[in-house]
Amino acid sequence: MEITIIHKQSDAIHFLVEGVDVAFANALRRTMLTRLPAMAIDEVIVIENTSVMYDEMLAHRLGLIPLITKLDDYNLPQECDCEGKGCSLCQCTLTLEKEAGDQETVVYSRDLSSQDPKVVPASGEIPIVKLAPHQRLIVEAYARLGTGAENAKFQPVATVAYKYVPVVSVDKTKCDRCGACVEACPKKILKLDGDKVSTQNTLDCSMCEACVQECESGAITIDSKKDSFLFKVESSGALPPDEIVERAADILKERVREALEFAGSL
Ligand SMILES: [Zn+2]
Repeated sequence: MEITIIHKQSDAIHFLVEGVDVAFANALRRTMLTRLPAMAIDEVIVIENTSVMYDEMLAHRLGLIPLITKLDDYNLPQECDCEGKGCSLCQCTLTLEKEAGDQETVVYSRDLSSQDPKVVPASGEIPIVKLAPHQRLIVEAYARLGTGAENAKFQPVATVAYKYVPVVSVDKTKCDRCGACVEACPKKILKLDGDKVSTQNTLDCSMCEACVQECESGAITIDSKKDSFLFKVESSGALPPDEIVERAADILKERVREALEFAGSL
């Protein structure tokens, strides 16, 4: 298996995986979505809420705020010595206290103050509720690690998708160099190069086949490599995108080992 990073940003990564089958690519995608833990608010104590929003709705909104996660600092509650009752090794407390003055005011995720300075909202710009003049909100929230299999709010990824690597081929014997395919391609994969049609940036090809439909002589064929996949992973902000991929690969490896061990014991 070979991995090539195509593009990396602070919140997203594009990479190419070669030498694997579709089952592996999908297992990696599903591990990132459902098995990799992230922090999220799971319990909320509403001390005072005079806003128009119900307590339940407020708790739901707080749960969906992505929190920066330090996987080495916290235990999954079910694996913690406290047996999931909640202690400083598996739980982080966040508090929020806000009162509107004479003007209406919006409560943002940045208004949450955390007991652990490392576990804070990934973005401070997430609106939680709008308070009318003199309305007040006081809450205490408990964040913990969880997985996407349990609840989607624990997913550390916003998007994780893969596509086959496209193979665009032009049959020079059939091509009459009319240039129609060059115009039809929305991704500008094809170009008229002197007296022949050639390809460029084929990884951008979305396999829409607009060029194939346009080509009357049938010179263009679009196929895909069966053992290469282009991944796009976007983080929710909880974990850096490269850590998501590395940790998910480790989890997948461990699960395969467990499955083999189980199969061997039968
Ligand atoms: Zn604990």
